[in-house]
Amino acid sequence: DSAAEPGYLARLNPGQRAAVLHGDGAVSRPLLIIAGAGSGKTNTLAHRVAHLIVRGADPRRILLMTFSRRAAAEMSRRVERIAADVLQERAASLMEGLSWAGTFHSVGARLLRDYALDIGLEPAFTIHDREDSADLMNLVRHQLGFSETEKRFPTKATCLAIYSRVVNSQDRLEAVLGHAFPWCVGWSDELKALFKAYVEAKQAQNILDYDDLLLYWAQMAAEPDIAAHLSQRFDHILVDEYQDTNRLQAAILTAIKPDGRGLTVVGDDAQSIYSFRAAEVRNILDFPGLFAEPAQVVTLDQNYRSTDAILNAANAVIGEAEERFTKNLWTERTSLEKPRIVTVADEAEQAGYVCDEVLKEREAGTLLKEQAVLFRAAHHSGPLEVELTRRNIPFVKFGGLKFLDAAHVKDVLAILRFAQNPRDRIAGFRVMQLMPGVGPSAASNAIDSMEQSLDLEMGLARFSPPARAAADWPGFVALFSDLRRGPGWPAEMERARLWYEPHLERKHEDATTRRADLLQLEQIASGYPSRERFLTELTLDPPSATSDEAGPPHLDEDYLILSTIHSAKGQEWTKVFVLNAVDGCMPIDLSAGERKELEEERRLLYVAMTRAKDALHLITPQRFYTSGQAARGDRHVYASRSRFIAQHLLTHFEATTWTSQSFQKDKATRPRTSVDIKGKMRSMWT
Ligand code: ATP
Ligand code: MG
Repeated sequence: DSAAEPGYLARLNPGQRAAVLHGDGAVSRPLLIIAGAGSGKTNTLAHRVAHLIVRGADPRRILLMTFSRRAAAEMSRRVERIAADVLQERAASLMEGLSWAGTFHSVGARLLRDYALDIGLEPAFTIHDREDSADLMNLVRHQLGFSETEKRFPTKATCLAIYSRVVNSQDRLEAVLGHAFPWCVGWSDELKALFKAYVEAKQAQNILDYDDLLLYWAQMAAEPDIAAHLSQRFDHILVDEYQDTNRLQAAILTAIKPDGRGLTVVGDDAQSIYSFRAAEVRNILDFPGLFAEPAQVVTLDQNYRSTDAILNAANAVIGEAEERFTKNLWTERTSLEKPRIVTVADEAEQAGYVCDEVLKEREAGTLLKEQAVLFRAAHHSGPLEVELTRRNIPFVKFGGLKFLDAAHVKDVLAILRFAQNPRDRIAGFRVMQLMPGVGPSAASNAIDSMEQSLDLEMGLARFSPPARAAADWPGFVALFSDLRRGPGWPAEMERARLWYEPHLERKHEDATTRRADLLQLEQIASGYPSRERFLTELTLDPPSATSDEAGPPHLDEDYLILSTIHSAKGQEWTKVFVLNAVDGCMPIDLSAGERKELEEERRLLYVAMTRAKDALHLITPQRFYTSGQAARGDRHVYASRSRFIAQHLLTHFEATTWTSQSFQKDKATRPRTSVDIKGKMRSMWT
């Protein structure tokens, strides 16, 4: 009866409420929530999880998958807050049970370790990030003789991209080449041999790469016994941002829940922006028809995020899309401030504009944190970062260079990884070569010596290193055996750092800053229960270089958000700036592209625009560097407004131009002249 209804239900609209109440806590038929940006999908999902728990579902038996670790943490916090409405202080302790919340990849890694022995994997496997994977691919490529001398053989990055596409799309190699890598079609035999050898190398070294986490999981879930076990283990499986999942991910879900019962997926087909990673928008469109018992479908049409001015403009842009399932949204939030299209001369001027506006807005009372600058590719924020630094405006950047990409951080992680899995050659290579006198061949021989010996430590100790490394070797052997036996977590982190420090000082002039990073890393490490979890989670979803999780600025400070559009998914800010809203960037130069790709570019702009609550500024520099690197020379192009904002859509925007004062001054010093000197010269003779 409604008197006993939890208070949080009253805050929901009828559609949201239906989604939360679906099954009323019991395992029930599949549910799809499909709706546009800002309609409260994620919010509804959080309420649904809270409601399940309030109605007695066991949090340990709920599997919740989001698109980033940050999103998972945010969701868990929200669930607790909502559930506390009813459960009071019991909510916090119950929430500790909600430990299966993460990305598909991190959940996959945990499950694979759990079931490793059942499927012939060794549980101590380590995970390669993209860079390590590319290195291993390169190593294998050289072993097979497909080296650079064969000039047109695809690069290691291309090889990895092709491999990844094949795995994630579950298509045949030939099909993937034909449609996404046409210039590599002639290499299909060599690529097949390469990929086979790559897979063998990974297996021999007990390594999984990103794609393997899904692939092995899908294979494992295809075993009826294990699928049944997984199905019993998780009563409820809920997935946010479902439009960006690929075929493997869909296959995993249907293998675990063949009848769909207990399954909830949430998404917006108009925001599908990951097809370059084989995401399949059909997943969400086909979901209702997948199961014997049809899915309950909930659509939502009220937007709670943006003003009508912003929403109308975003609707207009996505309204031009060729096909779309979700319908236009409406909002109660009215505003007279149309989104702006601001024309500036170049990227330096663009940076100046953003800085001026951001400061003005802060004066008016909007925190920096409530403002975000979005861009297509990480390098696009370069000029802005310079200008922000010059003006002392603090910022954090998401989706850019990761903290873990820094060489010194990778070095320390490689030490831990090598201790975790001594067969990981890429890690072993890296660590041994930190010592002066140890080069690739010595490192390789040392690893061979370990492999040939029954006892790993013995093998390492017996190896006689090059003379120059002789003094360092015993210390290295001691480090290795210490870490293997384990001073315990996270103490071993310090052990690794202390061994590394002399090498750090020798290799880098700015050792002091780098040491600070390593202390930061230790801080992060202490938040994880074990080395294994730490390595896994960090490899899969590393904190950003400047994010609040790692390094300055600190959480209690105010800072501007810089983010790629892809990393901004699901988030919202009071004021949003979008850089380079020009042809050649959005869409990116697609002379060879297909219509489908162009459509994805339109959705990318839609995702960017729909992050804004109160104010949205799209900036169009008339000149910008396509490569993002002025150093490469003559790459700047004269750009025009993005074709996605066609002339007839301009009524939704306020178009302005902006020039900085310094720029105007430059102009003013130039005399404006229309003197016809040539004519004068001629007239001298008439
Ligand atoms: P996206 O497609 O961008 O992921 P979404 O559909 O997941 O968006 P949410 O992020 O869940 O939308 O919600 C957008 C905003 O609307 C949030 O600030 C949320 O708190 C608010 N909101 C959602 N539902 C309601 C509601 N019923 N009443 C008031 N505010 C709401
Ligand atoms: Mg969302």
